[in-house]
Amino acid sequence: MFYKLLFSYDMKNAHVISIGNELLIGDTINTNASKIGNYLTESGFEVSRGFTIPDNPHIIRKQVLRSLKIADLTIVTGGLGPTHDDVTKKVVAEIFESELVEHAPVMEHIESIFKKRGFSLSASNREQAMIPQACEVLFNKMGTAPGMWFHRNGNYLALLPGVPYEMEYLMEFEVMPKIKTVFPEQDVWVTEYFKTAGIPESTLSDRVGSLEEFVANGVGIAYLPNPSGVTIRISANGNTPEAAGGKLKILRSQLNERAGDYIYGKGKNLKLAEVIGTILKEKNLSIAVAESCTGGFVANEITNIPGSSAYMKGGIIAYSNEIKIKTLSVDADDINREGAVSKTVAIQMADGVSKAFNADIGISTTGIAGPGGATPEKPVGLVWMGFSIQGYNFALKAIFTNNRLINKERTAMVVLECIRRQLLGIQGTPYELKPHYP
Ligand code: ATP
Ligand code: MG
Repeated sequence: MFYKLLFSYDMKNAHVISIGNELLIGDTINTNASKIGNYLTESGFEVSRGFTIPDNPHIIRKQVLRSLKIADLTIVTGGLGPTHDDVTKKVVAEIFESELVEHAPVMEHIESIFKKRGFSLSASNREQAMIPQACEVLFNKMGTAPGMWFHRNGNYLALLPGVPYEMEYLMEFEVMPKIKTVFPEQDVWVTEYFKTAGIPESTLSDRVGSLEEFVANGVGIAYLPNPSGVTIRISANGNTPEAAGGKLKILRSQLNERAGDYIYGKGKNLKLAEVIGTILKEKNLSIAVAESCTGGFVANEITNIPGSSAYMKGGIIAYSNEIKIKTLSVDADDINREGAVSKTVAIQMADGVSKAFNADIGISTTGIAGPGGATPEKPVGLVWMGFSIQGYNFALKAIFTNNRLINKERTAMVVLECIRRQLLGIQGTPYELKPHYP
């Protein structure tokens, strides 16, 4: 991954401490740290260190003391629950030499949660309403463990529960407002995401060219690859969102000029299938899918978009040759002669499904997903994708790697991106496919 970001000297620095044995042994992925990293970066912090540590009082004590000294702000998650392994609150209370006292509103909240569920309160649940005197409570509407906000000599510390949606609620509605009050001079960061598909990271960055001048001016740029495409992230800081956004203006137009064809849209969570849905609706076209190696992945992507019934007719998972022949009218002799993973069969599948479903567009996938099934001519990862766009039939070949699940995802990305480029008349893909349509 190519990543450059310049931090200015006057930025406040933050530490993130993730507590939990389950994080270290690999049972739980540390999504909290990444979410918190996003929150803090957007509110102008340099997240300079992240630590993942066990539910061990000595280690927690050592790390919290160290971060309290170095970091302007430390966010700790995990270990606030009612069970014996949850020790964070006790350790931090000791650090602040602070007694635990019952907090009435938290107690009422816990009681009302238990009443609603029809459970009686246990001693360990009552324990959750015991709060160190030295902190301010960050009221947790989403659960029983309250967050806590401490400070010492201008350094701030937040304790948040480990449950991801509880942590997110408290970050959004309690910690962020506190940050704005306590660090009012902080620059804001504006971040924009450009989504691409069907072009490898290296080809994309060659096209975009050197961005040194932007990086030198304090603009951050990152290429974030994943199986469904490469996302380009750009960010800049300023004392207002407008000032920060202004710094991105030239870079934004440079990206559009050099890689505009490959960018299917803007926004971190934008999906390619959503963009295609919009195009299909505009052009008043319907689509149907015949999937072998993707086993429904393409149909799933398409139907994840609300309102997709306006253009999605349906799909067939034509996994066996029998089904390809029976339901899609693929020629049995062609399968025998050229194999199910072939250009001819891919085209017949796409054509077959468009006719069977009376759809303007038929698409198909047939491939060797792996790990078995390869022959000397047909390696694992070979995929043929068929297209029938208003009667114009063609196919596209790709060779992916040998990870079965990633191959399904990549195949779905490429077929969808191919449809997008065809419908918009965009030249060129990594496979140098010329638009045939309209
Ligand atoms: P609770 O009040 O629910 O007990 P807690 O503060 O004690 O909260 P934990 O017991 O440490 O939190 O974790 C609760 C749940 O949240 C567990 O399912 C755990 O796997 C998950 N979790 C904890 N930390 C993280 C993290 N950093 N990233 C993602 N999930 C996490
Ligand atoms: Mg825990």
